[in-house]
Amino acid sequence: MPGEFDLIARYFAPLDHANSSIRCGIGDDAAVIACTHPMAITMDTLVEGIHFLPEDPPQTLGHKALAVNLSDLAAMGAKPFAYLLALTLPKIDHEWLAFFSRGLSALADQYGISLIGGDTTSGPLTITITALGHVHEDRYLRRDTAKPGDDIYVTGVLGAAAMWLKAVNEGVALSADVLATCESAYRTPNPQVAFGLALVGHIHACIDVSDGLVSDLGHILKASQVGARVDVGALPLSPALSVLSRDAAQQLALSGGDDYVLCLTAPKSARETIQALAQRCQVRVTRIGEVTDKADALVLERDGHHLDWSLHGWDHF
Ligand code: ADP
Ligand code: MG
Repeated sequence: MPGEFDLIARYFAPLDHANSSIRCGIGDDAAVIACTHPMAITMDTLVEGIHFLPEDPPQTLGHKALAVNLSDLAAMGAKPFAYLLALTLPKIDHEWLAFFSRGLSALADQYGISLIGGDTTSGPLTITITALGHVHEDRYLRRDTAKPGDDIYVTGVLGAAAMWLKAVNEGVALSADVLATCESAYRTPNPQVAFGLALVGHIHACIDVSDGLVSDLGHILKASQVGARVDVGALPLSPALSVLSRDAAQQLALSGGDDYVLCLTAPKSARETIQALAQRCQVRVTRIGEVTDKADALVLERDGHHLDWSLHGWDHF
């Protein structure tokens, strides 16, 4: 791609804030980092038309591309320190690149993390980020460690991002301020990194909710070979869902994607600790159910009655 090196120098090299663990960043054939801790590494791709809308502003795309990766690190209880960016662009659009890199760097600066390399190619707009985080020696959060009798919690609120897509795709009418809340939930999610880190050592299992709660909680159940009973009435619904019927709102909260909150399981003895940590991190945390010993069975209940809902989260294939 002509101008590839100029583009990297203008928009991405300035996001490389070398620090002592980054020995060599953007500009050589590979980055070199010095590792004193075990590392968590994750990669997420955003494809235009699938993970974002063609009209999504580049600044929020920069934010979201990094945020979804930081959300994965949060779910591992890892402390982010660097990331790589693979960018496929249909053309060089300087305005787009300036806003994209601004969105990326604003979020990266919040966490003091550095862009250490990447790749730039031409083709349909696709953004892939690889994020690196430090974890405590053998102390990090996993999906496969939930235990029967654990409480199940979810952070934040559910369904606002899915409501944004509903408003855009189905023309559901929302007031201007509700629409703004849903838009920012969808476009600029706020990864729960501090809370993920705080939870290490206090809980049993954790996952980030990106494809819908039933789907992501389902991953914990499968990996841990346990089941769950979820009290649908206890779900922390986004206030934006109040325009829907009770069933539709709860179903959207269970199956809608793009929440980027954490779902975790913890022993009952950890209740006070979890509330205290949530308060310290200024995160809302809600207890929504209990882990059972029925492998892979997710039971939805409301007012003590079983709900016969068959719900699925997002699945690419
Ligand atoms: P090579 O051809 O040796 O793979 P490139 O020409 O792809 O190297 O990249 C040159 C340098 O710029 C490398 O250090 C690479 O990591 C970095 N780089 C390329 N694209 C990006 C990008 N989108 N964001 C950040 N760094 C990038
Ligand atoms: Mg290359």
